[in-house]
Amino acid sequence: MLDAAQKTSWPPGLFDISYEFFPPKTPEMETQLWESIERLAPLRPRFVSVTYGAGGSTRERTHNIVARLVAETDILPAAHLTCVSASRDEVDDIVRGYWSAGVRHIVALRGDPPGGVGSSFEPHPEGYRTSTELVRGIRRIGDFEISVSTYPEGHPESSSIEDDLDALESKIDAGATRAITQFFFENDVYFRFLDKARARGIKIPIVPGIMPVQNFKQTASFARKAGASVPAWLAHRFEGLDEDPVTRRLIAAAVAAEQVLGLAEAGVREFHFYTNNRADLVFAICHLLGVRPFSEKVAA
Ligand code: FAD
Repeated sequence: MLDAAQKTSWPPGLFDISYEFFPPKTPEMETQLWESIERLAPLRPRFVSVTYGAGGSTRERTHNIVARLVAETDILPAAHLTCVSASRDEVDDIVRGYWSAGVRHIVALRGDPPGGVGSSFEPHPEGYRTSTELVRGIRRIGDFEISVSTYPEGHPESSSIEDDLDALESKIDAGATRAITQFFFENDVYFRFLDKARARGIKIPIVPGIMPVQNFKQTASFARKAGASVPAWLAHRFEGLDEDPVTRRLIAAAVAAEQVLGLAEAGVREFHFYTNNRADLVFAICHLLGVRPFSEKVAA
């Protein structure tokens, strides 16, 4: 543990931060996305990632945002990509398209079953069947940095944490270089998982995915589907605030700050933030970590 003086004096450049965005559906949401990117860009993230909608539904939009990041900013983008509802050739074309657009980092995922979480995953007859196969396919095309997911509380389809560690090992053997975790709210969950992974000899960074709770009900429902537990203390903190968005946001900031500072004090130096396309909470948490804007304007 760091003492109080050390807590307030984390040196600049100590933390590697990445931010995740999703492709917006409306022009208003698009404006919000780019405002958020512009606000967070001066914090010099290691990369920002852009998700790929269920069933490949945002293929064009994901590509356009990532391509614009390359063309108009000096932020390194990472494009999420899944195996869902596409043949290998189609997926390979997308990967080659990213390479030609100057993208060098892909977050490779199997994706959820088109029938929704809980139904069984039926791969496309000519598609990649698993995230491991996808990672191998991407590796064949170019020397990408490849991040993958991992699940400290277990993926809903896995029968044990050992299953998840098997899956992670197989993705690393295929060429993955970083794992980003599903979000969690109890830091011990992450540390137990990390210990198990290290005990197996897994050496790649396992970066905690941090979900600031912008909307408790939505987050709780998403967590149930994603296999992340919602502790009773967290529900208690948001209790009675359904009609009070201002207090909710203050609580959300306090909860996320407590989690991130707890991880940082225990030695974590890399964080991936699920931003929900909003900058303010995440900006505040980064400020607490001593991550401050660089003066030059990043967006062109
Ligand atoms: P996988 O690596 O495919 O593993 C899922 C589970 O299957 C494993 O835990 C394991 O139990 C089993 N398994 C798989 N392979 C093996 C193996 N070789 N050996 C043993 N067991 C195995 N979804 C989207 O649609 N778009 C996105 O942009 C997106 N981004 C995400 C980003 C992050 C950081 C995370 C954590 C998730 C993201 N997801 C996204 C959700 C993800 O697609 C779903 O959770 C999906 O159901 C599983 O795909 P996966 O690649 O995460 O998991």
